Formats: sequence, structure tokens, C-alpha cells
Amino acid sequence: MSGPNLEELEEYTSRLIPVEPGGVFRFRCTRCGGCCSGGPNVSLTVFDVVRMARFLRISWRDFLRGYVKVIIADIIPHMLLRGDERGRCLFLAERHDGVKLCVVYPARPMRCRLYPLLVEGLMPRRLYLDPKSPGVGQGPERRTPSRLVEQYIWERREHYRRINRLVVGEGYEPLEALYRALEEAWLEAEHGAEWADLDRLAGLGTV
Ligand code: SF4
Repeated sequence: MSGPNLEELEEYTSRLIPVEPGGVFRFRCTRCGGCCSGGPNVSLTVFDVVRMARFLRISWRDFLRGYVKVIIADIIPHMLLRGDERGRCLFLAERHDGVKLCVVYPARPMRCRLYPLLVEGLMPRRLYLDPKSPGVGQGPERRTPSRLVEQYIWERREHYRRINRLVVGEGYEPLEALYRALEEAWLEAEHGAEWADLDRLAGLGTV
């Protein structure tokens, strides 16, 4: 599967719909499954991986082996959810009546939790709506979920702070650094870290 070329990417970026942090927008999920079928494009943090692995009752190593594509860019490891041969997320299921479901919904990655809101730049943050989603502009007005956005920003910064510390500060190979960061997060979750509490996460709001 080939990704978008530069022109397509520029054209898509120019169509993103800006939203003020704390502002309102219209969205209704049509359960089309489109956002879960675009290839391996959901980036993950160690917090996402540990939450999903615990939800599925498997180790983070097994989760990594089965569901994650790791890319090393500029010595930093990045994780993406893998898709099947048609580019559909491996966690996308279909009910007998055709309605699409996420198998890991309570523990789904932060990017999925926020979709169709896209958070670009961490400081200052910029929010956009993805024009590809057919539900954008439909349904009732809703406010951007500020607490969820803040949690997402904290997780991304913390994820890359940890990876950078291990790779740049302590000299680990990228993959070894990723494994160490995952093990560290796993132990934190075992000891009751707030970020691993799925009920708390659900309470931060949704899109
Ligand atoms: S994890 Fe769930 S919500 Fe996210 S892309 Fe996969 S099926 Fe969709």
C-alpha cells in the first residue's frame, strides 16, 4: 500500500478545518468505519500500548508483535497501529447488521478518542477537524473536550521525553529504548498510575 504523495498531502492539509480550543463544532459519528480503514496511520504512545495490552490481557511485547508497526526515524522509534491487507485496523469489527465496532473501544488510542479532532503542535496547540470524516458538520453542537486534549498533549510530550532521555541521554539503541519505556509504563500501570485508569479516561470527555 502506498501513502499519499506530497501534493495530495498539501491538498488535504489545506482542507483541515480549524477549531478554537474550547470552541464548538458539529459532529455525529456515522459508524462508517472510514477513520479506522485508512492504513497504519494511528500513532501510538507507550501509554496507548500499555492500556490496550492490559485491556486485552496480554503483555506489551505480544501487543507490539501482533498489532504495532515500529518505524525508526532520525534514531527515534515511532509506533503505528497495524492494518490488515486492505488497510483496515485489526481492531475494527463488523456486526451482522453492518455496524462497525472497535474491539478495544474502552482502551482505544488517544488519537481515536479525539477523532475527527486533530491536535497539531503541542505549545501552542492547534485543533482541526478532519474534513474526510462524513460526520463533520452533522449532529448537535459540541465543545472541544479540553481535559481530554490536555491529557493527550501530556501523554505525547511525556512519551517523547522518555524516549529522548533513553536514546539521546542514555545512549540506548532506538528499539531497546522503546522496550524500556514500555516496561517502565507497564510497571507504572501495575502500580495504579492515573493514566492507566480507563474509567478516569472516559470521564475526561469524548468527541
Ligand atoms: S483502535 Fe478502534 S477506533 Fe482506533 S482505528 Fe482501530 S478500530 Fe478504529
